[in-house]
Amino acid sequence: MEGKMRGVTLIADWEPREGFKLGPKDIEGKQTYLGSQVWRNPRIEIREYDIPKPGPGEVLVKVKACGICGSDVHMAQPDEEGYIYYPGLTGFPAILGHELSGVVVEAGPGAIDKVTNKPFKGGEMVCTEEMVWCGACQPCADGFPNHCERLDEIGFNINGGFADYIVLPAKLLWSLEPLKKMYKTEEEIFLAGSLVEPFSVAYTAVIQRGGGIKPGDNVVICGGGPIGIAACAILKRQGAARVILSEPQPERAQLGKLMGADYIIDPTKEDFAERVLEITEGMGAKLYLEATGLPSVVYPGIEKAIWEGRTLDSTVVVVARAAAKMPVTGEVLQVRRAQIVGSQGHSGDGTFPRVIQSIASGMDVLPMITKKIKLEEVPENIVMLRTDRKECKITCVMD
Ligand SMILES: [Zn+2]
Ligand SMILES: [Zn+2]
Repeated sequence: MEGKMRGVTLIADWEPREGFKLGPKDIEGKQTYLGSQVWRNPRIEIREYDIPKPGPGEVLVKVKACGICGSDVHMAQPDEEGYIYYPGLTGFPAILGHELSGVVVEAGPGAIDKVTNKPFKGGEMVCTEEMVWCGACQPCADGFPNHCERLDEIGFNINGGFADYIVLPAKLLWSLEPLKKMYKTEEEIFLAGSLVEPFSVAYTAVIQRGGGIKPGDNVVICGGGPIGIAACAILKRQGAARVILSEPQPERAQLGKLMGADYIIDPTKEDFAERVLEITEGMGAKLYLEATGLPSVVYPGIEKAIWEGRTLDSTVVVVARAAAKMPVTGEVLQVRRAQIVGSQGHSGDGTFPRVIQSIASGMDVLPMITKKIKLEEVPENIVMLRTDRKECKITCVMD
C-alpha cells in the first residue's frame, strides 16, 4: 500500500548521565535498556511517515484503537534534570503506543494467521502482543518469551500504534473474532481488543506467576491502576470469595468495584492490614498483588496481614516496576509458608487467547475506558495523565 500516514512520535536527546556506560544491547545515540539514565528533554510531535511495507512474516495493520499506558506518560515526562522517568528499553525517535487493535490490510510472504494456520488474507480483526520476542535466544527457546534477550518493544524502541498504520510480525497477532459473541459493534470489539494487552499483563501476574487461586480464596490487589483493576476482574471471574482493592483515589476505587472488587480499602485513611483481616474474618488472603510501584510503602502492610492472618501459603506478586527496595522479613515467609514472586510481561503460556476467550464469554472490559480521543489529541492527553488520577484508560479511536 502506498501513501502517507501520521504517527505520534516521541523525540528526546541522547545525553547520558555521568557514569553511564553503554550496555551490551545499547546502541550509541539510538537505543538503551536504561531510558531514564540517557534520554533528556522528551517532546511529542505528530509526524508524517510513508506507510510501511510488510516484509516476510509481517503484516500491515490499519490501527483502529490504541490505549495510553503509564509507560507512555513516563517516557514523555522529564524529571527535575530533564531526564525521562521511564527506566527501561527505549529507542527514539519512535512512534508511541502499544495497546492496539486493528485490521490486517496487507500480508508479507509467510505471515501465518494462527486461527486458520494459513497465510493472512486481509480483513482479519486482530490485537497484538507488545513484546517482540525473537524465538531464538535461550529464554525464548526455554519457553520464557517475556525474558527474551533480543527483545524489541512496540512503541518503545520500535514504532508503535498511535499511527494510522503499523507493520507487525504475524506471530504476535491474536484474532479478535471471538469478541463478536460479546460485543455488537466493531468499535466495541476494537476497543476491547486494545485492552487485551494490559489484561494479559494482569493475567500473567496473578494466574501464571501467582499460580492463580481456588474458588473461595481471598485476594488483595494493591493499586487501582489499569493492571490492578484488570486483576480484580480476572480474579473475580476465577471465583475469588472476596476481592479486596486498596486504592485511595475514589474514581479508581469505584471503577474497581464495577470491574470485580467486592471491598475497597483506602490505605491513607484506614490501617491496611487491620481492614484486610476484618474483611476476611481473620483469614487474610491467598494472593496479594503489588501494582502500585511503591513497594516500600505497601509491603509492610501486606507482611502484617500475612503474619497476623491465618491463611498459609500466601503469594505476593510484584508486577509494578520500581527501583525501591522492599523491606522483607524472611521469618514471616518461613512461618506463614509464604512466597514473593516477580512478574514481567504478557507473552507465552496461552495468555492472550485465554484473555480474549474470557472477554468473549462475559468478562466486560469496556468500563475501564473512561475517555475516548482522536489521534491529534494523544499528545495533550499523555501530558495530562502526568497529574490526572481520575481517568483510568484513555483510548485513541481511529476511523
Ligand atoms: Zn503498557
Ligand atoms: Zn528471544
